[in-house]
Amino acid sequence: MPDGLSSLPRPLVLVVEDEAAIATMLRYNLEKQGYRVAEASDGQEALTRIQEQQPDIVLLDWMLPLMSGIEVCRQIRRKPSTRDLPVIMVTARTEDQDAVRGLNTGADDYITKPFNIDSLLARMRALLRRSNAVPDKGQLAFHDIEMDLSSHRVTRNGRKVHLGPTEFRLLEFFMQHPRRVFSREELLDAVWGHDIHVEPRTVDVHIRRLRKSMNIDNELDVVRTVRAAGYALDTEPV
Ligand code: CA
Repeated sequence: MPDGLSSLPRPLVLVVEDEAAIATMLRYNLEKQGYRVAEASDGQEALTRIQEQQPDIVLLDWMLPLMSGIEVCRQIRRKPSTRDLPVIMVTARTEDQDAVRGLNTGADDYITKPFNIDSLLARMRALLRRSNAVPDKGQLAFHDIEMDLSSHRVTRNGRKVHLGPTEFRLLEFFMQHPRRVFSREELLDAVWGHDIHVEPRTVDVHIRRLRKSMNIDNELDVVRTVRAAGYALDTEPV
């Protein structure tokens, strides 16, 4: 991370999928969850991307042009540098499930299309935790702020900070994307959800509350207001 202000690195997922619609859907959902996403649309490209970008986990379609998912997986396992790379095989219902299961593909897990995205995300988290490729998602840190998602604790410079539920979610979202400027509409989508109708002005109210809780005793204001653009978690002055 830039200038050593540790926010946990966001895991890189390589989506290997020849159906563009599925790849797009996966990218959308994974990015929403804070993952970085790389894509490959055939087996050969997958191996190149793995070499170049060193993803933390691979979602590997079983039926691919040029080289099957199984062959890609075999090659991943063969190389010492990628032997432990977590791989989730994605299969279609029409493919022979017993064959998928029975073949020694070397995949860590597999999931059947059409799949439930939450189920996929849960399997990914489990594999990422097991592989220790990334730290547990439960801890976030930025500047002098620490956030423990499982115990709902926030501290600033060691001091306990009390936040309402909305301010907590706002801070969590900011901590996942430090320094990035988000418009009110983007914050509404990310923190309140797409389906709920809330006035953009509501965001301002909660930002004010978040600021008030985070910045006491003349502490550095970490919530940056960017005129006509939105808000960011940042330590740089405007
Ligand atoms: Ca396919």
